[in-house]
Amino acid sequence: MATQLLMAKSPAEAAGSKTASAAFIAGGTEVNRLGSEVPAQAETLISLKKCSGLGQIEKVEKGIKIGSMCTFQQIVESEIVPDYLKEAALFMASRTKRNMATIGGNIAALRSDSYLLPTLFAVCARVEVLTPDGKQDDICVNSYKEASEAGKDMLITAVIVPDNVKVVSKRYSNTAQSHAVLTMSAAALEKGFTLAGAIKNCGIYRFKGFEEMVRENPDISEEEAIAFFKGADSLKISEDMFGSEAYKRYLLGVTAYDFCRKLAGKEV
Ligand SMILES: Cc1cc2nc3c(=O)[nH]c(=O)nc-3n(C[C@H](O)[C@H](O)[C@H](O)COP(=O)(O)OP(=O)(O)OC[C@H]3O[C@@H](n4cnc5c(N)ncnc54)[C@H](O)[C@@H]3O)c2cc1C
Repeated sequence: MATQLLMAKSPAEAAGSKTASAAFIAGGTEVNRLGSEVPAQAETLISLKKCSGLGQIEKVEKGIKIGSMCTFQQIVESEIVPDYLKEAALFMASRTKRNMATIGGNIAALRSDSYLLPTLFAVCARVEVLTPDGKQDDICVNSYKEASEAGKDMLITAVIVPDNVKVVSKRYSNTAQSHAVLTMSAAALEKGFTLAGAIKNCGIYRFKGFEEMVRENPDISEEEAIAFFKGADSLKISEDMFGSEAYKRYLLGVTAYDFCRKLAGKEV
């Protein structure tokens, strides 16, 4: 159980203090959540609250750069954050939580019902990281997920998202405060159509097979979209309190089709 709290003053100090028995704490909404394994497994919590330079939002060449300690509410209120990211931030319905929770904490939590990751995956967001040996890197959000799941220690310092791209998103939950069975986003990028989703208790994915299908045939039918997800064997979806496997696959198919239509300017 965590018995020490280190108030890091700089990203370098925070990243350099990260060991296997330490964990970062940003807004603390996940770390301090009832049932969270983070404080149970770590001896030291490294607070990022007093770290300099992690709280700005600025326009850069590749888009909008958001410091990892920016809260959801800061994102919602910013004049330069693209609307599509504000929409995803507002999936967190509680304003109290939005005032605490950070974009860095949301990405690092890698939850299968993530508010932001489907959108960040769809727009191919870049994540700036700092490793314990002081190396800085700029990686795509998908590579961050893979490296983090492989056990690599990284402090997220900022996230860069493109502006001027068309994005559509949808979150399925019983109420705004309930867990989502599915959160999906699609984007029309220069390289073409992208689609990503967070499936509760299953994982976060870029649906590259579906993207290729749409690039080959932009006029895909709803039946084809439904059939794609029905037969997508690489997705290991199981039945749980949120619904049957067949229901979740159907939801993926109809939502993907809906997104294709919307991004093509044809409302369903
Ligand atoms: C009732 C309740 C419901 C929730 N529902 C959802 C939900 O539906 N979807 C969802 O996505 N989240 C949900 N959350 C979790 C949480 O609120 C969000 O994921 C939030 O964005 C986490 O941000 P934070 O700043 O509070 O992170 P923290 O709790 O401070 O940290 C979360 C994790 O990220 C790590 N971390 C934090 N900052 C960094 C960084 N800069 N670099 C590297 N690692 C870092 C921490 O070590 C920890 O492992 C819920 C929480 C509660 C209490």
